[in-house]
Amino acid sequence: MGHEERAHALLSASSAHRWLKCTRCARLEEQFPDTSSEAAKEGTLAHELAEMRVRNYFNPGDISKRKLTFAIKKLKEDPLWDNEMLTHTDTYLDYIRDVSIKLPATPFVEVEKRVDFSKYVPEGFGTADCIMIQGNTLFVIDFKYGKGVPVSAEENPQMMLYALGAYEACKILYPITKIHLSIVQPRLPDGISNWECSLEDLMEFGGYVKGRAALAFSGEGEFAPDEKTCKFCRAKNQCRARSDHNVKQAFELGELPPLITNEEAGQRLLAMRDVVAYQKDLQEWALSECLAGKEVPGWKAVEGRRSRDWTDMDAAFERLTKSGVAAEEILWERKPLTLAQIEKIIGKKDFNDAVGEFVIQRPGKPALVEISDKREAITNKVTAQEAFQEEI
Ligand code: SF4
Repeated sequence: MGHEERAHALLSASSAHRWLKCTRCARLEEQFPDTSSEAAKEGTLAHELAEMRVRNYFNPGDISKRKLTFAIKKLKEDPLWDNEMLTHTDTYLDYIRDVSIKLPATPFVEVEKRVDFSKYVPEGFGTADCIMIQGNTLFVIDFKYGKGVPVSAEENPQMMLYALGAYEACKILYPITKIHLSIVQPRLPDGISNWECSLEDLMEFGGYVKGRAALAFSGEGEFAPDEKTCKFCRAKNQCRARSDHNVKQAFELGELPPLITNEEAGQRLLAMRDVVAYQKDLQEWALSECLAGKEVPGWKAVEGRRSRDWTDMDAAFERLTKSGVAAEEILWERKPLTLAQIEKIIGKKDFNDAVGEFVIQRPGKPALVEISDKREAITNKVTAQEAFQEEI
């Protein structure tokens, strides 16, 4: 089955982080179409390439070098193709190769393995990118092409559901006691995340999932609006629970002292994480309703600010040049490409070899993030050691 035509279960593994928290979402989402974004389509294309390259490595009899070259040629015809995909799928393949080479014996490997976890989740199934078993360890490896949010393998419900499915399929043949989960996100600088747990931990998760999934499948339980939970929910624009929650965060203040404390600031920032995102989602949805000719009381759609563009830039420039406007100085601007753009064009390795010594890392602008963020906290406060060094 092609990546694009893959069927989706009501309680899919990729949305487990949502329905495990908000057990009402899956049935609510059923009312909305499952549309695919440009980024998701790009990810699908990269997955197709990744799958073939891993198959070619482990099973060249199935996908020969010739077959792979032909398939890549076909993929390149896709308008979303980018040569970068070859580099990023290299990182994924290198990772899988490294894991398998370091094992004491040749592992059993399955690529794009359909896993059935319906013992835990009603009608639950999914497709794991790569499953590997060696000795008593089950490896589940996932390729993620997104470059926005880093995804951690630690207690990742999608990965744990795949592990449950893979375990159920292989437990008779292999004495699995250890589960190793890996997410390879090659477009991010620290894009590989690993986590390991025991079979007992996985079974405990299975027990928890069973209860939550039963509620989610029947559309019972509670709504749990929250920035991360609602972000990709198809009902997010119209969900009353999310709407009420955000309105409450924004307006219900009650009787309070005139100044807020640091503690309150922290609490409020946490509570209001989704308010701005929700307002944007609501605006987009209301605009689409207005454009569809429906009424949203108090609002209407209008044409935004117009912009001008040439109908024929070459002809216009030619006329301007003939009339005495200096083309090079006035009509064109000469700008250097950014470091990242040049690196993308010539490739990471050649870039480093050629001009790596001219690159410095400038400190990033301070940013406020949640305490769970893995980066080290910074302050402007001068430490005793720094103060002492200055005096010398
Ligand atoms: S928008 Fe949020 S609260 Fe509403 S159903 Fe979706 S996940 Fe649940």
